[in-house]
Amino acid sequence: MHEMSLAEGILGVVQDAARAHAPCAVRTVRLEIGALAAVECEALRFAFDVVKRGSVAEGAALDIVQVPGSAWCLQCSRTVAIAERSDPCPHCGGWQLAVTGGTEMRVKELELA
Ligand SMILES: [Zn+2]
Repeated sequence: MHEMSLAEGILGVVQDAARAHAPCAVRTVRLEIGALAAVECEALRFAFDVVKRGSVAEGAALDIVQVPGSAWCLQCSRTVAIAERSDPCPHCGGWQLAVTGGTEMRVKELELA
């Protein structure tokens, strides 16, 4: 379950930010997760609940913003939306796609109290 290591990574980012603004508590951690990032949001929520215990983010809620996947279709010469890496182009049905977005996961914003 790689969500556990992702959650630890998120906590590291949150702790660094909170330390810079100490003393404070973290209220909300806003995450951007791409549709193609292969991250299970529910598993990540669970993992974050586990790793945040006893940390500055103990009372923090996870707010997950999903970013749609996108790819460049060679045949259509345009960017198209895809839900999965293995999807064909929704316009021409072709497979010559180069993924251009929705593969990343990042901490977008923190709400500190
Ligand atoms: Zn196409």
